Amino acid sequence: MVVAKCQKDGEWADFQVQPYGPMEMEPAATVLNYGQALFEGMKAHRTSKGRIVLFRPEMNARRMARGAERFLMPPIPEKLFLEMCGAAVRANADWVPPEGKGELYLRPLLIGSGGALGVGASPEYTFVIYAAPVGRYFSGAGARLLVEGSHNRAAPLGTGDVKAAGNYAPCFAPQKAAKDAGYSDILYLDASGEHIEEAAASNFFCVDKDGVLRTPDLGTILPGVTRDSTLHLARLMAAAGEAGLKGVKEGSVSVEDVLASSEAFVTGTGAGVTPVAHVAVSRKGFGLQDILRASHQDTKLSADFLTPGPVVSGLQEALRAVQRELRPDTDGWLWDAFSS
Ligand SMILES: *Cc1c(COP(=O)(O)O)cnc(C)c1O
Repeated sequence: MVVAKCQKDGEWADFQVQPYGPMEMEPAATVLNYGQALFEGMKAHRTSKGRIVLFRPEMNARRMARGAERFLMPPIPEKLFLEMCGAAVRANADWVPPEGKGELYLRPLLIGSGGALGVGASPEYTFVIYAAPVGRYFSGAGARLLVEGSHNRAAPLGTGDVKAAGNYAPCFAPQKAAKDAGYSDILYLDASGEHIEEAAASNFFCVDKDGVLRTPDLGTILPGVTRDSTLHLARLMAAAGEAGLKGVKEGSVSVEDVLASSEAFVTGTGAGVTPVAHVAVSRKGFGLQDILRASHQDTKLSADFLTPGPVVSGLQEALRAVQRELRPDTDGWLWDAFSS
């Protein structure tokens, strides 16, 4: 793992590469008491040209810097963030799986590691990057998502757009209940209870009957690097008339829109582009009106999607081709861990 420290109002000191292991902290550490913590997730890919590359790591650096400001932590300068990522990949290069067999996942973590009992920002900060080889995030043919109205992930003007550690533990209980019922994850609704936001750690997309790719607007959702890349690739596909894609639209997506879609998928560094096979709406937690509406015979409460459909397959392939250097990296998305 690669570790750097910073005192409150100080500068980030030079980092150290050390064996993976426990980190010592006082019980009064701000991260343990008040959740002053952000994380990131990125992958090192072994390409067809034998290089080991990170995918758009500067996007992760900027996202973490924005989160740091929101959580009153000293942002990591982009140059240091990238240097530390490079050092983490080089130190773990033997653990990057062969091309096509998986990736080395990097987990950057920024925490308020200093002890202080008072409710307030930490006197000291630790930035650490550790790594682990990974395979597929969602197993099986496609994800099965449960739309559930009794828990929200984020609120308007809240921190849904920050990769804050504290956003994730509240998802564990509804997620476990969904998994016990045979689903892969929850599909969260916004505070109005009408519009789709995203899954616990991946962004949501669907393709409507007119062949338009739809995804919720940024705001309360996490601005995914894979979401942004997928939108870019989808616009190219639509312009070329590939896979029957007619357009791309960012904006509100209602539960009805999802159930009427022809294809659906989720995106994330972990998930890649994962097709969604099934979406079901739980009756739990919806208002009386919704339950009455839902119990009406004609009301559709679930939908099955083609897995993988043409748009999902096209996007999966396009993203994989860039990441494995099977198509030219025209947008400069690849960052060589040995020569950048
Ligand atoms: C990390 C994350 C994503 C995916 O972001 P990527 O940058 O594509 O990995 C989506 N939603 C949530 C809530 C996340 O935490």
